[in-house]
Amino acid sequence: MTRDAWVARHPYLQPVADLRARVESAAARVVTPVERVPDWQDYLGDFHGGIPLLWSGHTELDVSDGPAAVLGMLGELMRATPPVWLADQCRALQADLEVRPDSPANVALFRCLLWAVLAAELKLVITAFTSWRDEERWLRNYCPVCGTPPAMAQLVNRTEGRLRLLSCGCCGTRWRYRRTGCPFCEHADDHTLAVVGIQGEGGLRIDYCQRCHGYLKTYDGEGSESVLLADWTSLHLDLLARDRGLKRLASSLYEV
Ligand SMILES: [Zn+2]
Ligand SMILES: [Zn+2]
Repeated sequence: MTRDAWVARHPYLQPVADLRARVESAAARVVTPVERVPDWQDYLGDFHGGIPLLWSGHTELDVSDGPAAVLGMLGELMRATPPVWLADQCRALQADLEVRPDSPANVALFRCLLWAVLAAELKLVITAFTSWRDEERWLRNYCPVCGTPPAMAQLVNRTEGRLRLLSCGCCGTRWRYRRTGCPFCEHADDHTLAVVGIQGEGGLRIDYCQRCHGYLKTYDGEGSESVLLADWTSLHLDLLARDRGLKRLASSLYEV
């Protein structure tokens, strides 16, 4: 499944697809990936204690400062002849950041741009961290890199059985979690989760908890992660879940 084919089948996603394409291409132009990988032995104790990589005092990752990184992205977006609505938002955020860099009014655009920078900067570190870490020693309901709760989940088949991975909507990391139970209220009962299957949506479904009513969009399959775990590509499922009275407890960079 390619992103273009998916958007062609879901034309209402076109505006967010255009924004994503602009943001990713701006990030590719301004960001240099961090090459220096942390000393994993120094970090091991924190990892076992549940401290995500970016929060640890033992990793010293050389990532960009928030407001400065976002200002760089705004400049790049403005140079690429944005549509009027985007140019207006960029200008407003730029002006706002100069006055109050710590609390911009347009938090949604700020977070979207900041995470585009950080995800691109951390790409190599995340790959190295994924091959280093023992997934059995994490199994937590927040991202081992940045500490954010999951945006989505994925079910995969491995030699050891069927596994559930959680997917971070901010830095893009995927990590293992228990196969059953709710990642929001952490109730471990097998029977707590119910599933809403959706026809013709590439294996996407909605798993929800009958105790806390939180739901997690889940991709039951492999091969189309870059499209189906992107979160924005299934915003229509969030609307569907909302119509059913379910709660969006997942962490998302996109409002619905
Ligand atoms: Zn993350
Ligand atoms: Zn729950």
